Amino acid sequence: MSVANNIARIRNDLQAAEKKYRRLPNSVILLAISKLQSLSQIKSAIDAGQMKFGENYLQEALKKIEALKKYAIEWHFVGTIQANKTRAIAENFSWAHCVCRGKIAERLNSQRPAHLPPLNVCIQVNSESETHKSGIEFDELEALAFKIKKYDRLHLRGLMAIPEFRSDFFEQQRIFEKVAKAQRRLVSQGFSLDTLSMGMTQDFVAAIAAGSTMVRIGEGIFGKRK
Ligand SMILES: *Cc1c(COP(=O)(O)O)cnc(C)c1O
Repeated sequence: MSVANNIARIRNDLQAAEKKYRRLPNSVILLAISKLQSLSQIKSAIDAGQMKFGENYLQEALKKIEALKKYAIEWHFVGTIQANKTRAIAENFSWAHCVCRGKIAERLNSQRPAHLPPLNVCIQVNSESETHKSGIEFDELEALAFKIKKYDRLHLRGLMAIPEFRSDFFEQQRIFEKVAKAQRRLVSQGFSLDTLSMGMTQDFVAAIAAGSTMVRIGEGIFGKRK
C-alpha cells in the first residue's frame, strides 16, 4: 500500500470513529510519526496533505527538519526528553509531547527563542503504574501542571500517554479513560486544556472512544519501520 492510500484509509477510520463515539467531526488530529522513515516517505505524506509530523530521535529529526524546511510542516517531538536535548527541541519544534519533569519544563521554557510562539507541551502520564516507567505518576501530575502554567514560554495543552499494547479493545479504552479523567480533573481546577495525545496504529480507535484529540500514527501510514 502507498503512503497516500494508507493516509486515506486512516483518515477514513478516524472519521468513522469520531462518528461512532459521538465526537465532533474533525475533532481528532492526525499526527504522522515519521521516525526511522525516509525523506521520500515523508514527501509522499506531504503530497497527500499531511503537514503534522512527529519524531522521536533528535539527531535524525534535525536532519529532516533542515531537509524539509521549504514545507510548512508542524514538527512534534514525541520522544523522551533528556536535559541535554532541550535547547534543540525548544529551537526546532512546535510541540513537545513527553514533558514529565519540572527540570525539563524549566529548561524548555528558558531556551524557547523569543521570536517563536510558546512551545506547546503535553505532560506525559504513566498510565500503567507498576509495569512501565515512562511518564509522571498521576498523583504528581497536578504539581507539575501548576509549575508549567507559570512558564510564559510554554503553553500547556494537555496530557499524553503511551499505554502498553493490549489486544482487548475495552482494556485499551479503560486505560485511555484514566488519562482522560486526569485531564478532566485538571480542567476542573482551572486549566484550559484542549489536547489528549493518545492512540497509535494498534489502538487509536479505543483512544478516540476515550476522548483522544490527537492520534500518533506511524506504521499505519508509512508501513513497517526499518
Ligand atoms: C513510534 C511511536 C508512535 C507510532 O507508533 P505506531 O505503532 O507506528 O503507530 C506513536 N507515539 C510514539 C511516542 C512513538 O514513539
